[in-house]
Amino acid sequence: MPKNVPVVEKILSANDQLARENRLAIDAAGVFSINVMASPGAGKTSLIEQTVRALTGKLRVGMINGDIATSLDADRAAAAGAAAVQINTGGDCHLDAVMLHDALPRLDLRSLDLLIVENVGNLVCPASFALGTHKNVLVASIPEGDDKPYKYPGMYRGVEAVVINKIDLLPYVTFRMDYFRQGIEVLNPGVAQFALSCSTGEGLGGWLDWLTAQVRKR
Ligand code: MG
Ligand code: ZN
Repeated sequence: MPKNVPVVEKILSANDQLARENRLAIDAAGVFSINVMASPGAGKTSLIEQTVRALTGKLRVGMINGDIATSLDADRAAAAGAAAVQINTGGDCHLDAVMLHDALPRLDLRSLDLLIVENVGNLVCPASFALGTHKNVLVASIPEGDDKPYKYPGMYRGVEAVVINKIDLLPYVTFRMDYFRQGIEVLNPGVAQFALSCSTGEGLGGWLDWLTAQVRKR
C-alpha cells in the first residue's frame, strides 16, 4: 500500500474486512440482520421494543445495542423479549465492525432468526462504517423536521428502508411530508418507506410485514 494512502481510508478498509467476517458468521447461523440508525431521540429503541413485542412467538429476535454509556436501551429490548447484548462504545459516536465482531459471540446466533443492531444515535459517521449486517434501516421522526434528507444525504443514500416515526405528532408540528419524501426519492429512489407511530401503533403493520418478509427470504 503506498504510504500516502490517507489514514481514514486504511481504517475504513480494515473495517470493511471485518464487516465481511461478521457477515459470514451471521450467514453461517442462518440469521437475517439489520443495522438501525437514527439521530438521538428519533425512536430506535421504541421501534425495536414494538418490533420485538409484535414478533414474539413468530420469530426469535436478538438485539445488540451500541450506546455511549448506559445499558438502558438493551434493558428495554430484553424486557420486550429479545436476547439482548450491550456494547458500551466508551464515548465513540458510532458502532464499527470491530465492536460488532466482539459482541457477536455473546449471542447464541444459531438460536435466532433476526438480529437487530441498534447503532449510536448519530446521522453522520454510522453511515461510513459497515458492520456486516444485511440491511441498513434509518429511523427519522416528525419533530426532527422535514429537511433531514437534504442535510444528511450520506445517511439517506446508504439505507434500504426509512421509518418515519411519531406520525401522531403531525397535527402539532410543521412537517411537509411531500418535501421530506421528495428529498429521500432523489437520494435513494424506490427505498422502502414506513410512516408509523410507536406510541399509537399506527402504521406498524407495514414495517413488520416488510421485516418479516426479509427474514423469510433468508
Ligand atoms: Mg436507543
Ligand atoms: Zn462516530
